[in-house]
Amino acid sequence: MIRYLLAPVHPPFARALNLPRTASLQSAAGAPVARWPPASPTAVAITFDDGPHPEGTPAMLEILARHDARATFFVIGEQVVRRPELLRRMLAQGHAVALHGYHHRLHLRRSEAELREDFTRGIAAIEDACGATPSLHRPPYGIYSPASLRIVGELGLAPLLWATWGKDWRKFTTPERIARRALRGLAGADVMLLHDADFYSAKRSHERTAAALDLVLESMKSAGLGTFLAGS
Ligand SMILES: [Zn+2]
Repeated sequence: MIRYLLAPVHPPFARALNLPRTASLQSAAGAPVARWPPASPTAVAITFDDGPHPEGTPAMLEILARHDARATFFVIGEQVVRRPELLRRMLAQGHAVALHGYHHRLHLRRSEAELREDFTRGIAAIEDACGATPSLHRPPYGIYSPASLRIVGELGLAPLLWATWGKDWRKFTTPERIARRALRGLAGADVMLLHDADFYSAKRSHERTAAALDLVLESMKSAGLGTFLAGS
């Protein structure tokens, strides 16, 4: 278990912590959800974690634009301060920005003061970069502690997990495998997790994700699925 936690993985620990991943009804209780009632039941919320990245983020933005698709980027504050212009590009192209954390650290065993400081710094980094205040949060590795979940709410952020993922952070995977996994069981209103950066995962993983994104958007189009911004 510990080895798994230390690896750069995003396991579905929400289930282990008894947090809902797919039940939109439970969003009313303020718990993390992987679905959001969208404007259209034939749309999916595509989300990217861990950026912005100097190569990965522009690659995703270019592919999203080509498919006229929208996405939500859960950014890391320490990366935002290095390349704030990428957040402005996200917004200019109709995408949304959300908080993943200032540092990419597991919440468990961190003090309440540390957690609050991390989230507050992350929100400020986003505001300084693009003038937008994030309304959604997703924890690194998809894992909240009871304290971090409460503090996120106190700061006005709604937690959001995911319904499908591509496991695109892995070293030994391919764009085809990532796309197949991300599309498995995908339905309208689902939230899909991908990564536009390789800072906390296998080197150059964003290149495989970019190729997979093209495949995912092609397949979604064939299935009559569009995109919507998480939280909207
Ligand atoms: Zn992450």
